[in-house]
Amino acid sequence: MDGMSSTPVLLSMPMVPRQRRSPEEVAAAAPVTAEKKVLLAAPRGYCAGVDRAVIAVEKALEHYGAPVYVRKQIVHNRHVVETLEQRGAVFVEETDEVPEGALVVFSAHGVSPAVVRSAEERGLRTIDATCPLVTKVHREAVRFARDDYEILLIGHEGHEEVEGTYGEAPENTQVVNSPEEADTIQVKDPDKLIWLSQTTLSVDETMDTVRRLRERFPNLQDPPSDDICYATSNRQAAIKKIAPQADLVIVVGSANSSNSVRLMEVALEYGAKAAHRVDFANEVDESWFEGVATIGVTSGASVPEILVQDVLRLAAEYGYGTVEEIVTAEEDILFSLPKELRATLKEHGDSSRGLGGRGQRPQA
Ligand code: SF4
Repeated sequence: MDGMSSTPVLLSMPMVPRQRRSPEEVAAAAPVTAEKKVLLAAPRGYCAGVDRAVIAVEKALEHYGAPVYVRKQIVHNRHVVETLEQRGAVFVEETDEVPEGALVVFSAHGVSPAVVRSAEERGLRTIDATCPLVTKVHREAVRFARDDYEILLIGHEGHEEVEGTYGEAPENTQVVNSPEEADTIQVKDPDKLIWLSQTTLSVDETMDTVRRLRERFPNLQDPPSDDICYATSNRQAAIKKIAPQADLVIVVGSANSSNSVRLMEVALEYGAKAAHRVDFANEVDESWFEGVATIGVTSGASVPEILVQDVLRLAAEYGYGTVEEIVTAEEDILFSLPKELRATLKEHGDSSRGLGGRGQRPQA
């Protein structure tokens, strides 16, 4: 727990009763003879970058008081955003919505230099909660652009992280949205070309895109190290192991969470008979359980564990009380809090740091 002393704020949303069909009705509709169970993916849920970003906002609220402005959703999870809003965080789309001189936190997805400049021009105080693994990709973009490379940035146009990385070297960068785009993209010099990527993509699809790019541009260089981060890769590896045995996979995560949506796609690709994404347990449609023996459960990197536990409780009501955790990796990554906060925390004798792992902070 790293000496955290702050009051935990990630409360479970009250579950809306949604007994449209009782467990007995569901069982009668499609009897299941095999043992009913849940295979629970590990790792799942919070990554070190998300934990750090959420704690940064909590600490800013604690030490500077509300309101604390946050540019974009601090992480892509409805529950986290709504809970922080209740504490006094104000989420804005752009820095020009922040009153001059106020405090603004940049989200875990990162920002382009233009956003940093705009905040400076407005005299805003800033805390940069960009995940260090996103910052690493920014640095790669800057470095390769300086060396006059053309950068093929594999990622989803319009996603905040892609906007931020692209903004580091817009003159030298083209976004490649899909494997299909790799077949048509035009480059200036095929011998001075490097690919980088968004951190939360499907590992397999990205490799397919790279393969197709390399067929056309054999001298395409790889990034110095993987851009798809450890958390994305680990969560996909865990669901790949579960999916072939699963009649149903439930991914807990928000619709705008890239890594959560990828988990659903990967589950289907690796043999899950059905896969659904929910923000909260009360979005689970009980008809999904019909004829289902094995349910796979996982959660995206921005999802507090308590939301997964809500889904497990609901599944248990429908007879899936046996839960087997399928562990494919251990995570112990820890990031220190943004530097702008560290000095203030030190002044206040607060020894908090960022946390890693799966959101194992105590939950109220
Ligand atoms: S998903 Fe990866 S890149 Fe994104 S915040 Fe988490 S650790 Fe950082």
